[in-house]
Amino acid sequence: MKKCPNCSDCDLVAQKISANVEVDACPKCGGVWFEKGEVGDFTNFAKDIPDIARLAKEAKLSGKNCPECGLGMKEMKYTGSSELMIDYCESCNGVWFDGGEVGELKAISEKLEDVKLRISREVWNLRFNLHKRSALTCPKCLAKTLHTFNTSEGVTVDLCDKCRGMWMDKGETARAAELETDFPDYRAVAGSAVLTNFICPCCGSRLHNMKYAPQSDLKIEYCQKCGGMFLDAGEISKIETISANSEGAGKKLVRCLKQMHDEGYVKLN
Ligand SMILES: [Zn+2]
Ligand SMILES: [Zn+2]
Ligand SMILES: [Zn+2]
Ligand SMILES: [Zn+2]
Repeated sequence: MKKCPNCSDCDLVAQKISANVEVDACPKCGGVWFEKGEVGDFTNFAKDIPDIARLAKEAKLSGKNCPECGLGMKEMKYTGSSELMIDYCESCNGVWFDGGEVGELKAISEKLEDVKLRISREVWNLRFNLHKRSALTCPKCLAKTLHTFNTSEGVTVDLCDKCRGMWMDKGETARAAELETDFPDYRAVAGSAVLTNFICPCCGSRLHNMKYAPQSDLKIEYCQKCGGMFLDAGEISKIETISANSEGAGKKLVRCLKQMHDEGYVKLN
């Protein structure tokens, strides 16, 4: 049982403070113990203490002992620009917040007033998205086989290892095809949509099968909720025909698809 570093002989109790973070809290003084990684999970910053390399230099022994390993913790500022002081264990990297300070922590994580915090948030977002994107479920293979790729044309797509089908997020097809919208003429093809049992890899909705362009037999699966679209491997070549018919538009998409097929794929993660 972990003991409160403030109150003598008071056991810490597990407490959920957000959807994904459970901490150990003292029922007496309200202090909260975060194990390594948990502050970052709670604040959505890349590190538990965003500017730790600099702030650790000013740290002094705090006189409190780590609830985890019993060693003396260091008192230091949580950020360069705030008054919030925390106790940090250099051995297990846990962080102690006194009663009421978690509210301050939350306020700081929402205001992002200094640049170090904004950078830390950016890094967290990047990591979160990569992680989230590392294994999408292919609607055709029903397995986590969709992986994110970057092409030299600056387009990001998710490609299935198994069936070679391709998932594109909302806006990605437009960027690839140099169109203003993902469909050359959505209104003209909307009536062709038929609900399928295929599941959107991003939002879990059922996909519609529909024509991609009025003068083409290319059919795609489209998510009406999140706007993503799935192309079967065999259908990809049909985009060339569409591109040939619509002056200018689509050339970039064809180039990037050709590049992906001819030269292999550049895996993101
Ligand atoms: Zn306590
Ligand atoms: Zn410790
Ligand atoms: Zn697949
Ligand atoms: Zn969706």
